Amino acid sequence: MSLESSHPVQLNELYREVIMDHYRRPRNKGTLENPSVSVDLHNPTCGDEITLQLLVRDGTIQKARFAGRGCSISQASASMMAQQVEGKTLAEAEEIIHRFKRMMRGDEAAGETLGDLMALHGVAKFPVRVKCALLAWEALERSLEQLS
Ligand code: ZN
Repeated sequence: MSLESSHPVQLNELYREVIMDHYRRPRNKGTLENPSVSVDLHNPTCGDEITLQLLVRDGTIQKARFAGRGCSISQASASMMAQQVEGKTLAEAEEIIHRFKRMMRGDEAAGETLGDLMALHGVAKFPVRVKCALLAWEALERSLEQLS
C-alpha cells in the first residue's frame, strides 16, 4: 500500500519522503520477549493494526517496539513514535503525546520539537488520516495508563 494509491493526500514532498522512509524502513519494529505492557489497537476506518510493546524500568521506557500493518501514515507514525519515546521517562512520553495531539489538531508549532514526527503535521488537514496517524499514539496512551 503506498501513500499514492491509498491516500489522495497532497503533502509537501520533503515531508512525504520522511514518511515513506519510515514506512519502508520502520524503526523499532519487532516484539519484546518480556514487555512491561503490550497493547493492540486497530483503526476500522482504514484497516490499520498496531501492537505496541514497552519495556519500562525505573520510570523510563527502555525499549519501545511495534508490530502491525496498514497504510503508510499509520505505520510511519508508529515508527517515529517508538523511536522518539525510547529512552524517555513516562512523564516525557506524556508530554510528547500531548504535543503530537496538538499538532494533529493543526497547531504546527507544537510539533517543532518532535523531530521526524513534524513530517506528519500536514496530515492534520485530513481528518480521516488523522485517525491513522493517531493510532500508535492511542496505543501509547493506553500503555501508560496500564502502567500507572
Ligand atoms: Zn490508515
